[in-house]
Amino acid sequence: MASLNDIRSTFLEFFQSNDHRVVDSSPLIPRNDPTLMFVNSGMVQFKNLFTGQETRDYQRATTAQKCVRAGGKHNDLDNVGYTARHHTFFEMMGNFSFGDYFKEQAIPLAWDLITKEFGIPKEKLYVTVYHTDDEAANIWKKYAGLPDDRIIRIATDDNFWRMGPTGPCGPCTEIFYDHGDHIWGGPPGSPEEDGDRFIEIWNVVFMQNEQFADGSMKPLDMQSIDTGMGLERMAALLQGSHDNYDTDLMRDLIEASAHATHVDPYGDQNVHHRVIADHLRSTSFLIADGVLPSNEGRGYVLRRIMRRAMRHAHLLGAKDPVMHQLVPALVKQMGQAYPELTQGQALIEETLLLEETRFKTTLDRGLKLLDDETAGMDKGASLAGETAFKLYDTYGFPLDLTQDALREKGIEVDTAGFDAAMDEQKAKARAAWAGSGDAADETVWFDIAQDKGTTEFLGYDTETAEGQI
Ligand code: ATP
Ligand code: MG
Ligand code: MG
Ligand code: MG
Repeated sequence: MASLNDIRSTFLEFFQSNDHRVVDSSPLIPRNDPTLMFVNSGMVQFKNLFTGQETRDYQRATTAQKCVRAGGKHNDLDNVGYTARHHTFFEMMGNFSFGDYFKEQAIPLAWDLITKEFGIPKEKLYVTVYHTDDEAANIWKKYAGLPDDRIIRIATDDNFWRMGPTGPCGPCTEIFYDHGDHIWGGPPGSPEEDGDRFIEIWNVVFMQNEQFADGSMKPLDMQSIDTGMGLERMAALLQGSHDNYDTDLMRDLIEASAHATHVDPYGDQNVHHRVIADHLRSTSFLIADGVLPSNEGRGYVLRRIMRRAMRHAHLLGAKDPVMHQLVPALVKQMGQAYPELTQGQALIEETLLLEETRFKTTLDRGLKLLDDETAGMDKGASLAGETAFKLYDTYGFPLDLTQDALREKGIEVDTAGFDAAMDEQKAKARAAWAGSGDAADETVWFDIAQDKGTTEFLGYDTETAEGQI
């Protein structure tokens, strides 16, 4: 059976043999791109090649790109643990043409790889095209021999790909695999499309436009290709499952989590192991690329993912910190393809251990408070914003962790109330400082401290400061 590492190699070698340059994954932190929090797709490192701002000594490339989708336009954090096909960290396999080939070659290349190299049976495959894209529909019909009812026209943004609010973009065609009627879900465009029966495996984007911040869109000078195939989804498929977490690599991580917590990897508690395995990857790769937990920006997203994982470890009854114990299993699986993981191993372990040790001091008590506050509540009720704020401020619970904890109970959080409590605290802190000297300077100082995280700054309540670490 092909392992995930084998499938990655097959993909890259296929495109290399079709004259594509194998290019390394870029780090997860986009360079010189304030529009994006983390790299969320293979095209990000090539953005300027599509717009013609930059040229290189190759016009065709192929990559395995590290991606994190835990914020911004593409955010899958809330899908993890709920769908079989989403991770916060995943590898996107891609082939790219910068003004070289276009639709006529991109579709045949993708089709040959999946049906010939990977041997996926044609009867299980469906494709979508942007509703006005007759050209793509015709290529599918002619080259792949797909019948009309397997070429689904979609008028929504699902078939018009955008990296974010600005940048190169264009219509796309997507390839779906039908995992069978034992799994809930319907074909793309149907009301049940969100299920995991028909899984999108590959998106082939016809880059031909650029989107600007004012909402306008202009055609690009050249026509290019940008594709993204989810490596874990392909591995699941080729290993006979619809479930990304049922692949060699993820199973190893789930077993490491089971070993560290002494809880059956495939019993009722499996969802906790899945979340832990997923979040282990995103946090480790982010740390390896230089992000450290903090109270703002990228560092806060990292902290939020870490703490979510830690709550799940707690729910498995873990007494001691868990996450750092799982790093060796990850390095063993992925360290060869991504040497930064091996190099960063000690830092990753230390960072996870420190964060989990700190968070453990307040996690128990915070969860108890949450239980007490929601004890009598029915589904559909909402937790007071002030309580969510207290959890944030005193116990170090990011808002989304509280929401995640309440989701299974069907309880929401009054987020407007949370924001109001946050504003009130900021105002109080300002007032406290404004009284002690030159108000103008201190306001500026306060704003800076606020941006950098308030941990040391709000020293008037030690519990407050503790909770925010
Ligand atoms: P979906 O509709 O299933 O959420 P998507 O349309 O958001 O996927 P694209 O932006 O088209 O995904 O990304 C290209 C490919 O990357 C997808 O076809 C899929 O194979 C893979 N992919 C996307 N998001 C994830 C994720 N969160 N985890 C794993 N693989 C993913
Ligand atoms: Mg998505
Ligand atoms: Mg999609
Ligand atoms: Mg897609």
